[in-house]
Amino acid sequence: MNRPWNFAAGPSTMPLEVLQQAAADLCDWQGSGMSVMEMSHRGKHYSRIRDEAEADLRALLAVPDDFEVLFMQGGASAQNAVIPLNLIGRAGRGRADYVLSGHWARKSWNEAQRYGDIAVAATAESEADFDGRRYGAWCWLPAQDQWRVRPDAAYLHLCANETIGGVEQAVMPDMASLGAPDVPLVADMSSNILSRSIDFSKLGLVYAGAQKNAGPAGVTLVFVRKDLLGHALPHCPSVFDYTNVAGAQSMFNTPPTYAIYMAGLVFKWLLRNGGVAAMDVASTRKAAALYGYLDGSSLYESRIHPAVRSRMNVPFFLRDESLNATFLAQSEAAGLLALKGHKAVGGMRASLYNAMPFEGVQVLIDFLRDFEARHG
Ligand SMILES: *Cc1c(COP(=O)(O)O)cnc(C)c1O
Repeated sequence: MNRPWNFAAGPSTMPLEVLQQAAADLCDWQGSGMSVMEMSHRGKHYSRIRDEAEADLRALLAVPDDFEVLFMQGGASAQNAVIPLNLIGRAGRGRADYVLSGHWARKSWNEAQRYGDIAVAATAESEADFDGRRYGAWCWLPAQDQWRVRPDAAYLHLCANETIGGVEQAVMPDMASLGAPDVPLVADMSSNILSRSIDFSKLGLVYAGAQKNAGPAGVTLVFVRKDLLGHALPHCPSVFDYTNVAGAQSMFNTPPTYAIYMAGLVFKWLLRNGGVAAMDVASTRKAAALYGYLDGSSLYESRIHPAVRSRMNVPFFLRDESLNATFLAQSEAAGLLALKGHKAVGGMRASLYNAMPFEGVQVLIDFLRDFEARHG
């Protein structure tokens, strides 16, 4: 078996143990005589798989009882429409505010325009100066105390981790001190879910496509506070009405059974490996090692403000961009996959999700050092 280090942004590397468990169970899940793919989603075997997945996810993130946990389809991109469809009509508000931090937040904001009066609470779309250094668009975050939130907005949306740009909003704002105590906060955590604890007391809704840090593509995790349910717009598709999905334990229609099973195996792997607290510590250690190396180098650079650098997705540049093709060819030959940056940003990007061990980051840093010695 050949398993190089895979730094892809998503779909992304999975724990080898999880893949091996799935392989062992592929044709006959635990003596049932069926693959999980072949089971009725309402049968006793699958009910157990689903219920354990939800219970394990609740345990990992200490999800309070007043939140529903939903397994949905359509990815985080569908949620960009599903969220306004479900929340914007609450109390006849019809308006929502968005913090623009990069590619994904902008996509959410763009989609929401179809459903109501959508305003920008803050944006990092311009360049900005901090401590005598200039940072480019989407390389920094607007200070939370500068956000402008309408007190009668149906919700405030933010992206907690910009997978492409590489900025992370680690601490959730306090809506009361923004003058909007009654505005629920909605967070896209697609690429940093399960890497840190979540303060649900500050949130109304959290969502995440699974394929970055929680499992394979095909299932979207949604955590929604129960009092926000029941306000879907009349034209909200039934399968996307949170009330229907919650009422049917995420089986309003056939759920993505295999993707939920795989995510469930990841949750069990996380529980065996110290849970979210251990992932939080490991994420800090991995990111610190990589940024530390980049900052000390004269060949590479991070262009993100140090206070908001993502621990999950690390975009970096070779100062001499003419070396990019050589870098990519040699890194791949050295067993380091998918380091090419997103086309919107260019350069390189290393994604350091939970399934990437420190050892993989160390191999990457050794390669960076070796490449720098030869080309610096
Ligand atoms: C990948 C990603 C999305 C889009 O997810 P899909 O599942 O492809 O719809 C949205 N937001 C963030 C932060 C992402 O990383």
